[in-house]
Order: sequence, then structure tokens, then C-alpha cells
Amino acid sequence: MDRLLTSDPPPHRDLCTDCGVSRTSQPKRCATACQFIAPDYPKMERQVHGRARRPHQWDERFFGPYQILYRASLKQPSPGAQWTGITTRIAERLLEQGLVDAVLTMAPDEQDSWRPVPVLVTKAEDLAKCRGMRMGYAPLLAMLEPAIAKGIERLAVIGIPCQVYALRALEQELGLKKLYVIGTPCSDNTTTERFHEFLKLLSTKPETITYLEFCADYHVEIRFNDGRKKRIPFLMLPLSKLPADFFPLTCRTCVDYTNVLSDITVGYMGGQGQQWLIVRNDTGAELLSLLGDEITLADPGSAGNRLGPVKGFMRNTEQAAGGLPVRSMPGWLRPIVGWLMPKIGPRGLEFARARVEMKAVETVIHLQRQEPRRIKSMVPDHVWDLVSAYGLQRPKG
Ligand SMILES: Cc1cc2nc3c(=O)[nH]c(=O)nc-3n(C[C@H](O)[C@H](O)[C@H](O)COP(=O)(O)OP(=O)(O)OC[C@H]3O[C@@H](n4cnc5c(N)ncnc54)[C@H](O)[C@@H]3O)c2cc1C
Ligand code: SF4
Ligand code: SF4
Repeated sequence: MDRLLTSDPPPHRDLCTDCGVSRTSQPKRCATACQFIAPDYPKMERQVHGRARRPHQWDERFFGPYQILYRASLKQPSPGAQWTGITTRIAERLLEQGLVDAVLTMAPDEQDSWRPVPVLVTKAEDLAKCRGMRMGYAPLLAMLEPAIAKGIERLAVIGIPCQVYALRALEQELGLKKLYVIGTPCSDNTTTERFHEFLKLLSTKPETITYLEFCADYHVEIRFNDGRKKRIPFLMLPLSKLPADFFPLTCRTCVDYTNVLSDITVGYMGGQGQQWLIVRNDTGAELLSLLGDEITLADPGSAGNRLGPVKGFMRNTEQAAGGLPVRSMPGWLRPIVGWLMPKIGPRGLEFARARVEMKAVETVIHLQRQEPRRIKSMVPDHVWDLVSAYGLQRPKG
């Protein structure tokens, strides 16, 4: 396994998650490859999937182009995986079957297991070390040129949406014989340094926390190094204690929650406690088929109504973005509402639609306040389409 060896700070860019393009031999490609500059999703969707999302197909408005959605889990969950390990298992199968020469993904830093470090993996057994979710971003695509220089011609990349957008923008000039893209959704990311501040609010021994996930049943699950688990309702989280800039503007204004340019997206939002797969094109279907009967697949469910929660989220975001304190619920009511939300709130696909709409609303509100001049080039039509239901309109002119 080759690790990216650099501790250099990235070249300065406004709104940048250091996906790695600025560290390549042609850093000027950021201008056309960046999700935060002038993304062209319809063009990129056509390039990758052969067509843009179909507005008349209801769920493509939220999740981007796809062939089929599944609720899924591995029959034998992989140790150390974030959920059951579908993401890593697909990549292992690619290497085991000799379909790729290498997999580009993230491993934990040797000193700080929460810090992602880009790695190029050529042996299936080494992928076990990459399982699990780390908070932060790291220059994944800075390893593309070294990989190609090494003679890698067939590559799989596991990435989050801002990395995958740039990867797809560069794909044609990379000259690879084959590229497989396994994407995960991503939201509310921040730097690893800042994430450690959050861990300190959750435990008096933050260094013992080994796992954290925001689950679709409105709880955060935390695991400790002695095997203990703790589940905290979202409403009981100490979020009001976090500084206003805890989440960087990039991650508050990111327009691609579900990783629409991947061949297959592996998440959990629409999975009601299981994983959630978005098979987007024939390559994604091929990737899923590699798992054979190792995987259980079912139709995703959908229940509840997202309208009220999205409107409530929008009110809170407007107040918080305007510097006003977010109206807080009395402490005694929080556990009761925390208990009720998983039962009456949006669930399954409706939960995933709610989260995508919340993200779209958040993007527009934060850009309006902080970077109004960037709205026109940064916010794609599909985001305007989603937020119009909540009274947010594209600026005129
Ligand atoms: C910051 C972040 C936020 C996320 N938010 C959501 C969300 O809101 N909704 C949702 O449905 N899913 C989200 N995901 C995806 C989710 O956490 C799971 O990773 C995904 O569902 C796959 O689970 P798995 O068991 O198949 O993964 P595993 O088999 O455990 O594999 C996880 C893969 O993700 C890679 N990875 C881990 N951390 C990072 C990172 N920081 N950057 C890039 N790659 C990384 C690993 O290297 C590994 O290849 C998020 C992921 C990240 C990294
Ligand atoms: S393309 Fe990547 S490195 Fe360049 S500005 Fe965008 S996020 Fe930063
Ligand atoms: S939330 Fe968006 S911008 Fe931030 S790291 Fe995730 S994909 Fe990138």
C-alpha cells in the first residue's frame, strides 16, 4: 500500500476541500474541475451516465441519475467497517478478480486514526485497514499522477462527492483503460482538528472514541475502544456549544450530497437502519454483481412527511446564519422529542429526500449571506428546483 507522503498545506484556494487537484502538475485545472467554482452537473451526468437526471422521475430530482435503489447489507458484516462494509468489499472483489490494478482510497493516519490519508492499494487484503469513516478531507486525487506513473491502467476510486466531481472532470485526460468509481454520500464534514473539538464535548475521554455515525433513526452512535456503545438522540447533542465556523463554508454549501457522478453510491440515509445503494449505471450494476450472494438486497421503504422537518431546519438555519441564537427546546422536552422522531419523522427514502432538501436549503442560505456573488455559478438548477418549494428563489439577472 502506497501512502501519500506530504504534510504540506495545500496551495491557497477559496472554498476548497483540498481534493488534490491543486497539488498535481497542472493545478490550474481547479478552474474547470472544481465543484465549488462553476460545476456543470447536467454535462457531467451525461458524460458519466449517458444522460442527465430526469426531472419527471420523482426521486432523480433528489438523488441524481440511477437505475435502481436498494436497502442492503452484507450477510457477514466486515470488522471495522462503518456499516457492514459494502464499500470496501466491492473494492476487495475488484482486486481479487483482477479487474483493477489498484484502488485509491483513504486509510487512517498512523498517529491519529480520525485523520484520512490517501492510499493506493494493490492487494485486496490491505483494504481491511481502510474500512470505517474518518472525519476530515485529504488530497485523494494527488495520488492520480503517481499511480499512472507507476503503470496503473485500471483503477477503482472510493471517494466523497467533492473528490468525485473533480475526478470525473479529469477522467478523460487521465488516459486510464478503466475507471470504477465507488462513492459515498457526504455531509457536515469538517477538518479533523475541528472534529476532535466535537469529540471532547461528547466524552471526558475523547481519545477512547473509535467510531461515530449520524444514524437515520435520529441518533448518533458512538463506540469506545473497550467495546461500549452509546446512542445519543440528535436533539441531545451539544451542537449549540460548537463555534459558528465549526463546519467550513464548503461543507455548508456543497451541492452534491449523494455523489451523483459515482457508478454506485453506498450510503445509509435511505436504508432505515441498513445500508442504502444507488446503482447509477451499468458499471455500478457490474460492481454490485461482484458481491454475488454475499449481500442481501431489498426495496427501500418510505414513510412520514419531510415538509415540516425541512421547514423547521430552514428556520433554524436562517436564524443561525444571521447570527441569532437558535431557538432552543426546553431540556426536559428534548428526550421525549428525541424518542418520538424515529417513530413519526420521515423514514427511509423520505428521510433521504429530507436530508437532500435540507442540504439544498442550507447551501442557498449560507451563500446568500457569505458569498452572494458565487451563487449564480455555484448553485446548479437541480438545487433551485428543490428549494423553490420552500420559497427560496434564484436571484434575477
Ligand atoms: C465525512 C463523511 C460524511 C458522511 N455522511 C454521510 C451521510 O450524511 N449520509 C450517508 O448516507 N452516508 C454518509 N457517509 C458515508 C457513510 O459514512 C459510510 O461510509 C458509507 O455508508 C459506507 O459504509 P460501508 O460500511 O460500506 O463502508 P466501509 O467498507 O467501512 O468503507 C468506508 C470507505 O470510506 C472511505 N473513507 C473514510 N473516511 C473518508 C473520508 N474522510 N474521505 C474520503 N473517504 C473516506 C474509507 O477509506 C473506505 O474506503 C459519510 C462519509 C464521510 C466520509
Ligand atoms: S478542485 Fe480540489 S483542490 Fe482545486 S479548488 Fe477545488 S477542491 Fe480545491
Ligand atoms: S460535505 Fe461536500 S464539500 Fe464537504 S467534504 Fe463532504 S463532499 Fe466535500
